[in-house]
Amino acid sequence: MTYTYDDQNIFAKILRGEIPNETVHETEHTLAFRDIYPQAPVHVLVIPKGPYVCYDHFARAASDAEIVDYTRVVGQLCAELGVQEDGYRLISNAGAHGVQEVPHLHVHILGGRVLGRMLAKA
Ligand code: AMP
Repeated sequence: MTYTYDDQNIFAKILRGEIPNETVHETEHTLAFRDIYPQAPVHVLVIPKGPYVCYDHFARAASDAEIVDYTRVVGQLCAELGVQEDGYRLISNAGAHGVQEVPHLHVHILGGRVLGRMLAKA
């Protein structure tokens, strides 16, 4: 599948500094910030700075440096956000069935409470 990146999506605007965000961690290739509508006491979004729509797009098209940086930031944040001991959940929604709202790759880090089962029954 060929992905077309929409540079008007809200996370692209955050990366360009057009919309404010509550940054918790930033590196050369990666930005992490608080979700504006938190669904748990800890709810942070981690995005690559490059134009990738979703996880499989990123895994195929990003450089090794971007992938290593992104992966390490997600892992470091689990420690820095204090959710390692009691546990956490990583979610990355993609496309229509994944109900992805923002078409720029993001991993949700959720924690700080028992999160329930992975999926609600439809
Ligand atoms: P998803 O459904 O995985 O695409 O989730 C998109 C997430 O982005 C949702 O949890 C929103 O609350 C969050 N979100 C949307 N706009 C902003 C924003 N300006 N700053 C921080 N988080 C946002």
